[in-house]
Amino acid sequence: MRPDERVGERSPEPRRGADHNVMREVNRSLVLALVKEGGPVSRASIARSTTLAKPTVSAIVDELIADGLVRELGPGSTAVSGGRPPILLEFNARSQLVVGAHIGARRTTVAIGDAAGEEIARREFPTPTALAAGVAGADPAGAGTHIAGVAPADALRMVAAEARAAIQGTALPTARLAAVGAVLPGLTDFHTGVCLLAPNLGWRDVPVRDILAGELGAPVYVHNAGQAAAVAENLEGAGGRVGDLALLYAGTGLSAGVLSDGRVFHGVGGTAGEIGHNAVPGNEEPCNCGKVGCLETVASGPAIVRAVRRAVAAGEPSSLAGLDTFDARDVATAARAGDALAASVIAEIGAHLGLAASWLINAYNPAVVVVGGGLAPIGDLLLDPLRASVARHALAPALRGVEIRASVLGPDAEVRGAVLLALQHSETYYRVVFRA
Ligand SMILES: [Zn+2]
Repeated sequence: MRPDERVGERSPEPRRGADHNVMREVNRSLVLALVKEGGPVSRASIARSTTLAKPTVSAIVDELIADGLVRELGPGSTAVSGGRPPILLEFNARSQLVVGAHIGARRTTVAIGDAAGEEIARREFPTPTALAAGVAGADPAGAGTHIAGVAPADALRMVAAEARAAIQGTALPTARLAAVGAVLPGLTDFHTGVCLLAPNLGWRDVPVRDILAGELGAPVYVHNAGQAAAVAENLEGAGGRVGDLALLYAGTGLSAGVLSDGRVFHGVGGTAGEIGHNAVPGNEEPCNCGKVGCLETVASGPAIVRAVRRAVAAGEPSSLAGLDTFDARDVATAARAGDALAASVIAEIGAHLGLAASWLINAYNPAVVVVGGGLAPIGDLLLDPLRASVARHALAPALRGVEIRASVLGPDAEVRGAVLLALQHSETYYRVVFRA
């Protein structure tokens, strides 16, 4: 049983006590949600909104106060009837802490959030991994060098130490840590908490959840960067809380985070959304995953650089021709400055990304597709051909009303997603369905 899916679970034998406990938990989470989202509120107004009996509400509120989740604010304004003014209750956001850790290819960000998701501390440092030595010096922030030859377990222990130090810096008790969200640049299995493959870190089958949980003493939820960015853009960015959202995560690689009703669609092995490894007929380019012809080999940052190099080698004129090293951002800058080759390469990659977006639209029927990851800042130069390609490839009924938007959160999306996912999983999740 997954901790976020308690309702609907059936025990093999009917057990009255278990049913009673479930009802009590449902009622508790209803009351807590009302205080959290509608507070400050009185006990009487909670009873009215939930139609629970007043003594039931009072008992639950007493329990929430004792647990430190809710506190009394003092009396509100005098009741209309002229009676004693009710005591108002508010949610105590600092009663719980979560850690969100985004372990990026180059840099790692650890953020401490409270139970309302507000960030109260953040630490950023070079990602301590074995392969990172290969990109040392290329770090745009220039903040220190990467630590070479660090084993994944040791790297995760260093991330945990940074998280502990960040919590200590808040002066709040470490015991309030309720959950950890860990976000990685690669294939992850949410159900086992294992990072299956992260070529940029040189990681394969790393038990991220177990290592971090051992270090931090709290449940750990592991997601990939696209899933985290999707959750963050939905709640705080371009998604506007639509719930049914697909995020095309285009950068070094290509993947997607797919949300249904605000929650990540994982699939049985946790690899749902890896559309970058769907094959494109006729494409013979070898991929990081070991296969040939994957979409990400023609629709990613490295694909942009390869396409420019190939054209330059074939004699096409470009301002990038004399450069030893350049990246996708340099190609975008050249395109904006009037470089025709750079512009046509970006348009071509945009069209390939549009193909990926049309797959997402046809398969999942989202309300919004957000384009995130390292290529998103290229903007309309990439998005215009992407939209044109979507219009050409997506099924008309699936495309109706779909909006394609650029990421709003930028490089903050992954770590915000890590915090929000930790929070989402630490809350008991009940989906109440009313039927007429
Ligand atoms: Zn592949």
